[in-house]
Amino acid sequence: MKYDVIIGLEIHAEIKTKSKMFCSCDNNSDDKAPNTAVCPICLGHPGTLPVPNKRAIELVILAGLATHCTINRVSKFDRKNYFYPDLPKGYQISQYDLPLCYEGYLEIGDDKVLITRIHLEEDTGKSTHPKGSDHTLLDFNRAGTPLLEMVTEPVIKSAEEAKLFGQKFQQILRYLDISNADMEKGEMRCEANVSVQEEGKWEYKDNLILPIGDHKLNPKVEVKNINSFRSLEKAIKFEIERQTKALEDGEKILAETRGWDDSKNVTKSQRVKETAADYRYFPEPDIPPLNISDDMIADIEAEMGEMPKEKTARFVEQYGLKEDLAEVITSDKHLANWTEEVISEIGAVVLSEGDSYERQDKKLAAIAVNWITSELLKHLKTDHRDINDLHISPAEFAKLVCLIYEGKINSTAGQTILNNMYVKGGDPIDILSELGLEQVDDKEALTEVIRTVIENNPNQAAEYKGGKLPLIQFFVGKVMAETKGKANPEVVRELLEKLLIE
Ligand code: ZN
Ligand code: MN
Repeated sequence: MKYDVIIGLEIHAEIKTKSKMFCSCDNNSDDKAPNTAVCPICLGHPGTLPVPNKRAIELVILAGLATHCTINRVSKFDRKNYFYPDLPKGYQISQYDLPLCYEGYLEIGDDKVLITRIHLEEDTGKSTHPKGSDHTLLDFNRAGTPLLEMVTEPVIKSAEEAKLFGQKFQQILRYLDISNADMEKGEMRCEANVSVQEEGKWEYKDNLILPIGDHKLNPKVEVKNINSFRSLEKAIKFEIERQTKALEDGEKILAETRGWDDSKNVTKSQRVKETAADYRYFPEPDIPPLNISDDMIADIEAEMGEMPKEKTARFVEQYGLKEDLAEVITSDKHLANWTEEVISEIGAVVLSEGDSYERQDKKLAAIAVNWITSELLKHLKTDHRDINDLHISPAEFAKLVCLIYEGKINSTAGQTILNNMYVKGGDPIDILSELGLEQVDDKEALTEVIRTVIENNPNQAAEYKGGKLPLIQFFVGKVMAETKGKANPEVVRELLEKLLIE
């Protein structure tokens, strides 16, 4: 039997506003002691009245515009009722039938992944269960944080596509400064609905997965507790395998919520899924409906600025970059801005012979981008930091780029200088003279070193003469070591080719 996989995603993201969703409490309480960023409103005391945060509404509309959604001109909040210790009011203020945004999409490769809706709600508090204790601790600092919820149609076809969608959505949230969307910190949380159906026995019609004929569809399973894109992909793959095997073994699949266990790489049953009726949604009586005007939407749209795709195209055109490198640079808006500052800080450099200024500009931009993508990002990745944590100014990095372009240092020296800049900061020209890393391309001086190296390695020299040409690399290495990495490797190679066959 052949099977089709049907996946839908639900993504929650904490919105980066100054204050919470319905009160003026600080929305950035990461380093605050538990229960210090709270007030009677977010603690759900009786008699308090919520006042919606306008900025949160604007940011959700912005996310909707960036994902080609239609914006509801009349929207409202609703109460979603359920009991949980970290939900102080006994209900969550959310949106039910009139979300701020609906019917959008994101392009993933050649596929259009349809977005059902994006709505605004509030986050819950946090429960912790101290190890070895018999009690649970509650922190309500997070209660009332504005939360964006995005739901896709069940049109995603694979775990890989789900991951790509999640990454693209995260990139949009970050580009527009809507959310930091860090999954490990719980600022962005993904849930996946996964079902496996017999091929040819279902169709996607009117936004629904429908059976063909009197066939009975298999239920979907919701997977939670996913805290990275890697886990998202693994959890979906696990579910596809588990459900396929169950079908082949003639077992029944339950409509349930399962949690991803990252240490064991399995999903585990948590509970049977609630339906909308269980939540007894009704309109929030304390908040009047929202009227979203054309002017408001136009103002929000004006905030959008250049998105990754357009930025990549511009970087290719303006700086002559290769598309894959431009994509790496523009994947993060802050990195793209920093790179542009570096390029604009590259000052007057002596024009090398036979070059034009236009060609030189492109060469310098290419060196800058190569060093950023290959060296700088490697450092940042190793340290789990991003460009905002960097203590190298664009002007200093631009100077390093010029030193490399002008051939004053070779790439080994460039790496040493960059390491120094990365750790301690500072001007690359000062570091260069402190460490004495100026590139040696004085042919006379190098000839002397090379003759000594050849004398000291007569066997290899003989083998090279006898036709074992790759041995040249051995000699280049020796000369580089002898000059403490300062020799110009091109000059060394050129001289070696001559001197070795003398
Ligand atoms: Zn509050
Ligand atoms: Mn939700």
